[in-house]
Amino acid sequence: MARLVMKFGGTSVANIERIRNVARHVQREVEAGYDVAVVVSAMSGKTNELVGWCTDASKLYDKREYDAVVASGEQVTSGLLAIALQEMGIPARSWQGWQIPIKTSDAHGSARIEGIDGSRLLEGFSRKEVAVVAGFQGIHEATGRLTTLGRGGSDTSAVAVAAAIGAERCDIYTDVDGVYTTDPRIVPKARRLDRVAFEEMLEMASLGAKVLQVRSVELAMVHKVPTFVRSSFDDPANPQPGTLICDEEDIVEQQVVTGIAFSKDEAQITLRDVADKPGVAAAIFVPLADANINVDMIIQVVSDDARSTDLTFTVPGADFDRARAILEKSREQIGFASLQGASDVVKISAIGIGMRSHAGVAARAFKALADKGINIRAITTSEIKFSVLIDAEYTELAVRTLHTLYGLDKA
Ligand code: ADP
Ligand code: ASP
Ligand code: MG
Repeated sequence: MARLVMKFGGTSVANIERIRNVARHVQREVEAGYDVAVVVSAMSGKTNELVGWCTDASKLYDKREYDAVVASGEQVTSGLLAIALQEMGIPARSWQGWQIPIKTSDAHGSARIEGIDGSRLLEGFSRKEVAVVAGFQGIHEATGRLTTLGRGGSDTSAVAVAAAIGAERCDIYTDVDGVYTTDPRIVPKARRLDRVAFEEMLEMASLGAKVLQVRSVELAMVHKVPTFVRSSFDDPANPQPGTLICDEEDIVEQQVVTGIAFSKDEAQITLRDVADKPGVAAAIFVPLADANINVDMIIQVVSDDARSTDLTFTVPGADFDRARAILEKSREQIGFASLQGASDVVKISAIGIGMRSHAGVAARAFKALADKGINIRAITTSEIKFSVLIDAEYTELAVRTLHTLYGLDKA
């Protein structure tokens, strides 16, 4: 029998009525003849609440206990959905990550899935039982401790389960009916895409489009899992196909720019009057790397006197304070006059595999942003995307400007 994974996000399971609606979507696929594994998130807002409780209890909480706390949200919804399915006469049982097991690394709070043994789920299928899997969680076998996969991690649970049980496809049901040219909540003129290439989706997700967790796209690409993003708010009797994440070759009409993403989770650090000599970049960036802080955009100003220079770079907003503390600690060794920081910045990115074959795509954006009076603080480019760092207050204006510039507005 063909197998299917259906994943439902927080808004889709926000209350009992919505969980019943999810059960109706599952019922449709069971009646179509699929063996179904459902992966569920916590009810919307629940994970934030649980995270808040941990930080209230202690600023320096033990990450293993954080995982024990935040994994509980998914435990509740997996049980509730199994009950709702049973109520409709559909055999079902819930599965916690450790029961399957979903084996992960021990990086608590952002663990990576290392392997899934799908045999117990398959045994359930042979009993005609729907498997309701708690997303976002797994177990580190050597220590026997619960782990979680990082925010948005249920997407990754779903694709990984799909790969493990050889599912025909993985359907990610959410509160929008597909992947759009940009966040439809910010740009009402955003268009739904029928198809997006894995590589583009990977960039969009890494650059701020939280519709899919980055790691889920990586897994879908590596394991060739056909993955759809679709709406749980469609009538269960009349579902729409949503957006297929697929190979580049399967996209017929390729645009130069496919989408615009933005990330507010950025902070800018500028070191003034840094000694312009060999080894300085290492003195700055090695301690940050050692502390697991990801440095993204880097700009070094050419110095007038060849003795000192200014260096600007970005770090994730959540690491801003830690990065500043580390740099201040090595101030003498690095040798800089002052450190300036800004967290009211946003990174806006344009993504498209068509950029490989078109020149001057980014240059047009710089002009369009300048025409709107938006100052660019930093720029990075790569083969299929470019990003600009600007003041956060211009986020919507900049996203809309680029969306229109590249012909993405819906008619
Ligand atoms: P879930 O709880 O179902 O996992 P998320 O909130 O994680 O849902 O992701 C869905 C949200 O992603 C949408 O409500 C939308 O606001 C946001 N989003 C950001 N960028 C995009 C995009 N390019 N296309 C679709 N949705 C996007
Ligand atoms: N509940 C988790 C979160 O809010 C995982 C998920 O929803 O994917 O991040
Ligand atoms: Mg999500």
